[in-house]
Amino acid sequence: MGSIGGGILDLTNDSFYYCTMQTRITELFGIDKPIIQAGMIWCSGWELASAVSNAGGLGLLGSGSMYPEVLIDQIKKCKEATQKPFGVNVPLLYPDIDKHIANIIDLGVPIVFTSAGNPAKYTARLKEAGIKVVHVVSNLNFAQKSQDVGVDAIVAEGFEAGGHNGREETTTMCLIPMLKDKIDIPIIAAGGIGTGSTMAAAFCLGAEAVQVGSRFVITPESSAHENFKQEVVNAKDGATELTLKELTPVRLLKNAFYEQIKQAYDEDAGVSSLQEILGRGRAKKGMFEGNMDEGELEIGQISAYINQLKPAATIVEEMMEGFYKTLKALQTL
Ligand code: NDP
Repeated sequence: MGSIGGGILDLTNDSFYYCTMQTRITELFGIDKPIIQAGMIWCSGWELASAVSNAGGLGLLGSGSMYPEVLIDQIKKCKEATQKPFGVNVPLLYPDIDKHIANIIDLGVPIVFTSAGNPAKYTARLKEAGIKVVHVVSNLNFAQKSQDVGVDAIVAEGFEAGGHNGREETTTMCLIPMLKDKIDIPIIAAGGIGTGSTMAAAFCLGAEAVQVGSRFVITPESSAHENFKQEVVNAKDGATELTLKELTPVRLLKNAFYEQIKQAYDEDAGVSSLQEILGRGRAKKGMFEGNMDEGELEIGQISAYINQLKPAATIVEEMMEGFYKTLKALQTL
């Protein structure tokens, strides 16, 4: 029995299949494996969320791209597809957020991850309804605020992560230990994690679970467009960049749309020009409708390393096996 990241892992068995693992996060959510699938806009519908939950991790619906009636339908379908716990990610800047929150409470969703905003506004209401609340942060200040308003755990998301991200550019490697030192509630590490060894690294830094986005984009269960999945499969080292810090910072694949942004920066364009170039619905155009030139293609740095489409359950299993083997190998040093 070994202790790592505040959790308990049995490394005495020869095979990871018999390995059991408990952390405060597995206990909080009632899950078997400390792997959480990120609630990504346009990618994380009920097929993906239920597949990850059925595999023993925690699946999340990405409500940021769903109109309220779409989210209701997705929650109902997810409930039919799994008996296991699942959650919803709610970006706090979502225009119809009050409807999302009310529907989530009415439908008895057990877990909510909030992101992109101040957790003070909805945490108490969600917790009064018996919902476990997690907030996504990218720096110490937001982590402390989240703890102060009573969230159950935080996702600490480093610079490597895809999609919307922190302005500080703090990497996962620096962020997790810094927060671990100051925060008492459990930390879920995100950003650059998609394999067993990166998961083991996150646990060494003090995380008690990992949140994985990019790797779950390229699954048959992800609702992303096939063109986007293929683009992620093909992505090479250096293919992504964090940009648009003046609006909402976002890590994306460098395509023709990105070149337009880059040109605007080269010409010292102001916020209003950047906003004009971005327009509305760019993420949908790229990730959901498959327009690889004009769309916003949100993905993390680890896209350079993942090059095969695999079922969500296989990813969960491979990550657990890799995690176990990494820790076993470390024991022999
Ligand atoms: P845009 O403002 O460019 O476009 C809004 C998109 O969201 C449209 O494609 C629209 O679909 C869809 N949508 C879903 N529900 C609504 C609604 N109630 N009102 C308006 N539009 C809605 O936003 P983005 O594409 O950049 O982002 C989409 C969503 O993602 C944002 O609304 C926000 O909630 C969320 N987001 C999340 C972040 C995070 O950190 N997780 C950060 C930034 C945004 P349609 O085209 O069919 O009208």
